[in-house]
Amino acid sequence: MNSQLDTDYDVIVLGAGAAGMTAACVAAAQGLKTLLVEKTAYIGGTTSYSGGMCWVPNSHKSQEVSSDDTLAKAGSYLQAVAGSETGADRRAYFLERGPEAIRYLDANSEVKLTPLAFYPDYYPQAPGASTSGRVMEPLAFDARELGADFKRLRPPLPEFTLFGGMMIARADLVHFRKVFKSVPATLRVAWLTLRYFIQRLSHHRGTRLVLGNALAARLLRSLQKRDVAIQLETTVHELLFDNARVTGVKLKTKDGMKTIHARRGVILATGGFPHNPDMRRDYLPAQASPYSATAPGSTGDGLKLGQSAGGAVPEDGNNAYWAPVSRFVREDGTPAVYPHTVTDRGKPGFMAINDKGERFTNESNSYHDFVQGMFLAYRNRPSITSYLICDSRSLWEYGLGAVKPRNIGLRHHLKTGYVTAADSLDELASKIGVDPQGLTDTVAVYNRDSLAGVDTQFGRGSNAYHAYTGDPNHQPNPCMRPLETAPYYAVQIYPGDLGTAAGLNTTKDGQVIGRHGKPIEGLYACGNDMAGIMTGSYPGPGITLGPALVFGYLTAMHIAGK
Ligand SMILES: Cc1cc2nc3c(=O)[nH]c(=O)nc-3n(C[C@H](O)[C@H](O)[C@H](O)COP(=O)(O)OP(=O)(O)OC[C@H]3O[C@@H](n4cnc5c(N)ncnc54)[C@H](O)[C@@H]3O)c2cc1C
Repeated sequence: MNSQLDTDYDVIVLGAGAAGMTAACVAAAQGLKTLLVEKTAYIGGTTSYSGGMCWVPNSHKSQEVSSDDTLAKAGSYLQAVAGSETGADRRAYFLERGPEAIRYLDANSEVKLTPLAFYPDYYPQAPGASTSGRVMEPLAFDARELGADFKRLRPPLPEFTLFGGMMIARADLVHFRKVFKSVPATLRVAWLTLRYFIQRLSHHRGTRLVLGNALAARLLRSLQKRDVAIQLETTVHELLFDNARVTGVKLKTKDGMKTIHARRGVILATGGFPHNPDMRRDYLPAQASPYSATAPGSTGDGLKLGQSAGGAVPEDGNNAYWAPVSRFVREDGTPAVYPHTVTDRGKPGFMAINDKGERFTNESNSYHDFVQGMFLAYRNRPSITSYLICDSRSLWEYGLGAVKPRNIGLRHHLKTGYVTAADSLDELASKIGVDPQGLTDTVAVYNRDSLAGVDTQFGRGSNAYHAYTGDPNHQPNPCMRPLETAPYYAVQIYPGDLGTAAGLNTTKDGQVIGRHGKPIEGLYACGNDMAGIMTGSYPGPGITLGPALVFGYLTAMHIAGK
C-alpha cells in the first residue's frame, strides 16, 4: 500500500468503503493524483461485512443471464416501488449511466462482477420487476494478491464465517446444507475445508474471499495497481476553502495536523451515520433501536463536513436501510449485533411474535419491510418486544441468528442468555415473558396453514422473493413448516439497520448542493453520505452497493471533466 503523504493532490477521497474506493480508483484511472483517507485501521467499511450484492439493472452483465431487462422496465419498477419525486432525477441517472459504470469498472479495475441468474427483486409482482440479472456479486478473490495489505482489509463478520475465518460463497451454501447427504456436496465441502486449513498455515484467515469482502479486496487491489496513496487511521479536522470553493482538508494524522490541498475536489464517502447516536435520534424514527449491524467507523463525519460547507440533508422518508437484528456476546467477550437478513427468518419453521404471542408481519418480506412491519405493528408504543422463534428441527437445519446450522455455537449462546430454549411452547412463552395462550393459538394457526401451504394471516410464501428466501426443497409452502419438534427456541429481535439513507443533497454527478441550491465547487458525496436514491424503499438485493459503485464512478468522472 502506498502510504506516502504529499501536500497536493487532484482528488482527496474520505472513506475506504465501496463508494470511496470506486471513486478513488476511477479518479486514478483518469490520470488524477488521488489520496484516499480512512479513519479506522482497516480498509473496507461496512462493504467488507456485506453480502457484496450490487443491483444495477440492464448492465452488459445482466444481458449474460437475462434477455428481458431493459432501461424502460427498470424505470417502471422503480417508479412503482420508489416513485416519490425526491431523488427521481438521480434515480433515472443511476439507471441510465449504471451500465456504463459497470462496463468501465470491468475494463479498468479488478472489480469483476458476475450476474445472478435467479434472484428476484423484492417486489416481484410490481410492474417491471425482474427475477434475473439485475443483481451481481463479486467473483471470489485470492487475498494473497494483496500481499501484506491483506491484514489491512476489514474482516467479515465472524458469524458469516466457519472455523474462525473461512468465508462461504453463496453458491456453496447449498453444499454445506447437504453435507453428508450427497456425495458431490460432501466432496465440495471437504475440498473447501482442506484448502482453508492449508491457507491458515500461512495466513491469519482464509484467503479465498467472497461476498462483500471480495468486493472490498478487489477495490483495494485496484488501488494498489494504480498506486493510489492511502492514509489509514486519519481523519479530517476541517475542510479548506478558497472563497466558496473547497480546496483541501486539514488532516488529523498519527504525526499531527497536516494541510493537504485538492486541486479538483474532495469526495465524502464516510458511510453515513449508523454509529452516531445524536444523528440517529435526529433522523431516525423514535421506535428504531440503537443497534446497527454496520462497521464501527461510520459516525456521520461526511454529513457533518458537508453541512459545515452549507450542504443539506433532506428527509427521504425512512432514512435507513432496515433489518431486524439481535444482540449477543461472542466467545471472546465482544458485544455484537446479528442482522437477520436471509439466513433464518424466512425459512420454514420460523415465526416472529410480539409479547402477546401473536405474529405481526410477514416474516418472508425483505428485511427492510419486515422492520416496517415492526414499526407499523407497534406504532403507538415506545418500545418494541419481538422474538424470532423456531423448533429444534429448523434450528438444526438453518441456524437461528448467531447460532449456525447444525447447532454450532448453541451451547455458548444458551449460556449467555442470547437464546432461550424450552421443552414446550408454554414454557418458552413464560421464559421470554410472552402470553402462553396467545402463543399456543398462534402456533396452531401457523401449523394448520403450513400443512395447507397458505398463510392465511400474512401471505407468506405468496411471491417469488418469499419462495427464494425459503427452502425450495420444502413443500407445499417453501416458507412454512409446522413448529412441532421440541425443544423450541427464541431470540429477541430489534428494529436495526444495515446503513443509513439520509445523506447530503447532491447533483446527479455527486456535487454537494449548497445553501442557494447551487453546487458547492470542489465538494462531492457518494455512497451513504449521499442522500439515498430509493426514497425510503428497498427495491432489491444490492440497492445500496449498486448506487455506491455507480455514483462513485460518476463523481470521479465529473471531477475528471468527463
Ligand atoms: C451484514 C450486511 C450485509 C449487507 N449486504 C449488502 C448487500 O449485499 N448489498 C448492498 O447493496 N448492501 C448491503 N449492505 C449495506 C452496505 O454494506 C452499505 O450500505 C455499504 O457498504 C455502504 O458503502 P459506503 O461506501 O457508503 O460505506 P462503507 O463501506 O461503510 O465505508 C465507509 C468508510 O468510511 C470510513 N470513515 C468514516 N468516517 C471517516 C472519516 N471521517 N474520514 C475517513 N474515513 C472515514 C469508515 O471507517 C468506512 O471504512 C449490507 C450491510 C450489512 C451490515
